[in-house]
Amino acid sequence: MNIPSQLIDKFNRQITYVRMSVTDRCDFRCVYCMGEKMTFLPRAQLLTLEELELVGCAFVELGVTKIRLTGGEPLVRKNVLQLFQGLGQLVGLKELVLTTNGSQLVKMAKPLFDAGVKRINISLDTLKPARFQKMTRVGQLENVLLGIDAAIKTGFERIKLNAVILKNRNHDEVTDLVQFAIDQGIDISFIEEMPLGGIDEHDRAEAFYSSDQIRHDLERSFTLIPSTETTTGPSKYYRVAHTDTRVGFISPHSHNFCETCNRVRVTTEGRLLLCLGQEHSVDLRRVIRAHPGDIAPLKQTIVKAMAIKPKGHDFQSDRESQILRYMNVTGG
Ligand code: SAM
Ligand code: SF4
Repeated sequence: MNIPSQLIDKFNRQITYVRMSVTDRCDFRCVYCMGEKMTFLPRAQLLTLEELELVGCAFVELGVTKIRLTGGEPLVRKNVLQLFQGLGQLVGLKELVLTTNGSQLVKMAKPLFDAGVKRINISLDTLKPARFQKMTRVGQLENVLLGIDAAIKTGFERIKLNAVILKNRNHDEVTDLVQFAIDQGIDISFIEEMPLGGIDEHDRAEAFYSSDQIRHDLERSFTLIPSTETTTGPSKYYRVAHTDTRVGFISPHSHNFCETCNRVRVTTEGRLLLCLGQEHSVDLRRVIRAHPGDIAPLKQTIVKAMAIKPKGHDFQSDRESQILRYMNVTGG
């Protein structure tokens, strides 16, 4: 098989962005992401750091220019810095980015920056310590705020907060969260809860709080100017007038963005997911372990997988969790 230098699917979309989950483990247990008692994957089922790097390298050789490392909490994986350093050196990779809960940033911000990470997304759903502990079940707000501060001082090109908003849980804080982002000179995105993984802590349909509602709430305090910035994702951006802060709204329930979808995901176990909202996947781990260190069969498998990337997703907030994967395994 002749291996192409670009990944094009059958709807003529080019894949340039890969999100890789480096671990399913986490030091938090956010109520919308996990159950209280989680059984994590046995270590042998996870891709090793070397295997993850090989996957990243294969994608970059196939024209991918952006890799996001996520999890679980990527920064709790032992020696994960080694992976950032390896990926940071790949020629052709323009953006190496990270999504984190911020708990490890006090010590990790500087080494990540030195490894080549330019942008970070940090999750923050509330500014109230007791509420933070309730929503994460175990997290300490103070630690995350110190982590955000460390990241700002390190000088990343862009830092963005991610806030999942749940009705009657933290929807009353959207204005305070935007004000916090403005005060710190950083961006913020609001995320609608997605039906990934079975959870019993709350009813997802009842907790649904739409992006439109959030925007409406914010417009009482801020002037939001639609940004001309286009993203090929499910986000819409606005600039807050007279500030440097952008506010994004991520509405995965909207189908509009599937047409321009440029991304795929790789799970902790090395399953290539062609669409977040569908079960189509290909087992890359099997290929890697059958041909250790050989990148060619891996690239061929990825190229072939493009044929099964579906046209769009199938989320419905009222049909609880038809997708059984948890977000921490998928990589949010
Ligand atoms: N642990 C890191 C963190 O929390 O940022 C990275 C992984 S986490 C799965 C990535 C993002 O997904 C976080 O911003 C988190 O709030 C979000 N998330 C988790 N479960 C979700 C769900 N069911 N619906 C929408 N967003 C979710
Ligand atoms: Fe952990 Fe992130 Fe999931 Fe929260 S959202 S439990 S921090 S993986």
